[in-house]
Amino acid sequence: MKTGIEKVLERVQVKTPEEIADCGAVIVCMRVSSGPPAVLSGKSICGRCGEEVWISPSTQEVIHVGAGNPVACLQCVMKELGVELAQ
Ligand SMILES: [Zn+2]
Repeated sequence: MKTGIEKVLERVQVKTPEEIADCGAVIVCMRVSSGPPAVLSGKSICGRCGEEVWISPSTQEVIHVGAGNPVACLQCVMKELGVELAQ
């Protein structure tokens, strides 16, 4: 069974950093403080709140090229969508 986060990451069609910046895509990641990752992951920083988040190695390669930080933790994304997360 895949987690919801994995499904979201699968749907993110990562191309080039420029394209990511242009389309305003957001890579949704789980906060490190929320628990261990479902798959082997590296760490990145939420571009909105600065919390440490888990990120898959393939995604990490793309975002370290310097086109801004499209990473956002699930909490920030939910807040922007107006959804309250049960803690
Ligand atoms: Zn955040």
